Amino acid sequence: MSETKIALVTGANKGIGYAIANGLGALGLCVGVGARDEVRRETAVEKLRAAGVDAFGVPLDVTDDRSVTAATELIERRAGRLDVLVNNAGVSGEMDPGWLQDPTTLDLELVRTVVETNVLGVVRVTNALLPLLRRSATPRIVNVSSSVASLTRQADPDIEIGPVMAAYAPSKTFLNAVTVQYARQFADTGILINAACPGLVATDFTGFQGPRTPEQGAATAIRLATLPDGGPTGSFFEDAGVVPW
Ligand code: NAP
Repeated sequence: MSETKIALVTGANKGIGYAIANGLGALGLCVGVGARDEVRRETAVEKLRAAGVDAFGVPLDVTDDRSVTAATELIERRAGRLDVLVNNAGVSGEMDPGWLQDPTTLDLELVRTVVETNVLGVVRVTNALLPLLRRSATPRIVNVSSSVASLTRQADPDIEIGPVMAAYAPSKTFLNAVTVQYARQFADTGILINAACPGLVATDFTGFQGPRTPEQGAATAIRLATLPDGGPTGSFFEDAGVVPW
């Protein structure tokens, strides 16, 4: 089996996911570009290859069981194992003006859609790929979360955390909670799993508003994806360090 480490990044066709794929590729990993749209996926793969990254396309819709099974089979055929999984794909759900999701008028269908991608999508992909991750000598899982999910920060009136986002923010809080459950289950297995906040990044997601570049947003996820053995697990990080739950 190849010595080269194999990574899969979900939602890697653009934004922070693309930057994570690029950054892991620059570190010498072979990177699967998980993306649901064929044209966007292949364009990203070509761009990464032109930048010198050993990239390959992985058709992947994280909300679709069959797509996730097919992606797992593709990676098994291609590499026989997986060393790094970055669960980056995410959606905000529709916002009212001012990036507001008002809990008092919340559309439950919207909540279902956001949770389906941001939480159940992560569980679906992680569990499908676990057998391949277990074949790695250094399995690492990174769940791309957001500091807006921090209940501690939301409960502190002295911290500016932005508008009320009653679907998106709790979906990432749920994701954080699931991350902790995995870490507990993985105790003593060598699998390290953590959540990463990229900060406020100018991508499609934010209407390209935000002080940080996708490369800056990718840095914490890349660090957690390449942690040494014995590194932290079951925690939540941003560039400055640990984010309180
Ligand atoms: P983005 O540019 O909108 O990219 C999101 C990516 O997720 C796209 O590749 C998108 O694919 C993919 N995706 C969405 N649903 C999917 C599905 N069902 N299956 C597969 N892929 C799917 O957003 P971004 O800013 O890079 O966000 C990446 C992650 O960072 C998200 O989890 C987000 O919550 C988190 N985050 C972002 C910020 C920020 O300021 N930007 C802050 C905190 C956290 P398509 O192109 O096909 O739609």
